[in-house]
Amino acid sequence: MASRVIPVDDFDLVIFGGTGDLARRKILPGLFRRFCAGQMPPNARVIGAARSNLDSDSYRQMVREAIGEFGGEQACDDAHLDAFLARLEYLVIDARGDDGWEELQTMMLGTDRIEAYYFSVSPVLFGDIAERLQKWGMADSRARIVVEKPFGRDLQTARALNKTLATYFNEDQIYRIDHYLGKETVQNLMAVRFGNMLFEPLWNSQYVDHIQITVAETVGVGGRGEYYDKAGAMRDMVQNHLMQLLCLIAMEPPARFAPDAVRDEKLKVIRALDPVAPYHIVRGQYQADPENEVERPGYRTAVDNPKSRTESFIALRTEISNWRWAGTPFYLRTGKRLAARSSEITVVFKDTPHNIFGEDAGRHRNVLSILLQPNEGITLGVTIKEPGPGGMRLIDVPLDMSFAETLGDDDVDHVDAYERLIMDVIRGNQTLFMRGDEVEAAWAWTDPIIEGWEARNDVPKPYDHGSTGPTDATDLMRREGRKWQKITQ
Ligand code: NAD
Repeated sequence: MASRVIPVDDFDLVIFGGTGDLARRKILPGLFRRFCAGQMPPNARVIGAARSNLDSDSYRQMVREAIGEFGGEQACDDAHLDAFLARLEYLVIDARGDDGWEELQTMMLGTDRIEAYYFSVSPVLFGDIAERLQKWGMADSRARIVVEKPFGRDLQTARALNKTLATYFNEDQIYRIDHYLGKETVQNLMAVRFGNMLFEPLWNSQYVDHIQITVAETVGVGGRGEYYDKAGAMRDMVQNHLMQLLCLIAMEPPARFAPDAVRDEKLKVIRALDPVAPYHIVRGQYQADPENEVERPGYRTAVDNPKSRTESFIALRTEISNWRWAGTPFYLRTGKRLAARSSEITVVFKDTPHNIFGEDAGRHRNVLSILLQPNEGITLGVTIKEPGPGGMRLIDVPLDMSFAETLGDDDVDHVDAYERLIMDVIRGNQTLFMRGDEVEAAWAWTDPIIEGWEARNDVPKPYDHGSTGPTDATDLMRREGRKWQKITQ
């Protein structure tokens, strides 16, 4: 099946922080892949803007190397790469001063293209950049801005940031990015839920026993130690990525697949989330890898803070107080240095009301697994009779709904979340971006949880490198007669 690429209108994309890690690893290789796919119009321009003292030629060389390193299989031939690099410019700019702004203004004004400004810089610079865009006449109605996480560190700072951005831009010009929402499977989750009759009638507390969301990483904090130690897993992962996944899995069907209709329903989920009791929270810190303590030190060494109480792992249980979900537990879990890199949403259905096959059958439950990484796909575990003679023995087999195999590998899973989201920005489609009130509601739920453990002087439990987190996390499920899905690649 041939891939359908819908071209977008001419645009200029300015990447503030165009020399940074995110730009080199994700944004620029992603744009190149869209260029190769024929989606980027031939006259589109990408302008890297950062503090490093480069000219456009040396910037192109830097981007060439970045694409070589991070471009992935999709990267096409050298002629395409040269043509893509020819669309790139670079400007030395100071987000906090006047350097470079006049040059940027000269480049941007006098065209009727779409203008997108990607704030791929530290959030402390978001306000400065927004202010200067307005001062130099670039915050007009054609402009849209893309802001990266973290969006605040609590409700107060998120509100302040929303207020600052709202001084210069309307809400429909602000694209708060959460790359989890750009994943193919996340959108497929909506298609599966709202495009089929099969699941929606069962999608409630009457038929669903519980839902689990796991985002497990094998990496440690790496070079982000200073930032991470002030944030922790709750702020860095739960408040944004896991909450967004929770919203999509739990929300009511929106009336239309339109940005505000979808985001209104997500907001209702966040607002209906119950506070989390202390005994429903497990926090952990990873220990050093005993086989290589130098390369894989423990958390406290990695962040250079021997008394750190920041969590690199969290598991918690919450409920959603509404008609659909009352009484259904939602278990969220995320951590670093775990057994495998794996993100998965699991919907575990209840037992059949009556078991006609004998004692054994109670162990068999339908489980819908939505895999987000490293491989994307959806499987539904169904119970069948084990083939062959020997009586009525039941086994669970996965019904594979992986679109990659069905639709042809080329078409689907090579569009990285970032490139999809950037094209959505150009198209002006905010469905997969967080609205200001959503972010604030997420912090309003998160803040008391964090304040609670700070007030209790809670110390995270140590857990082994390459494990599934502290044993208390296993107990969180076990004491309710449930268990986590295995963390496997
Ligand atoms: P980075 O430190 O690698 O790059 C920062 C960029 O900002 C550089 O290009 C630098 O020149 C530029 N910069 C710094 N001060 C400036 C100033 N005063 N004026 C103009 N430019 C200035 O950071 P990064 O990892 O690329 O992250 C960028 C943003 O994306 C951050 O908000 C980060 O939280 C977010 N983010 C990054 C990742 C990632 O994987 N790197 C993932 C998610 C979110």
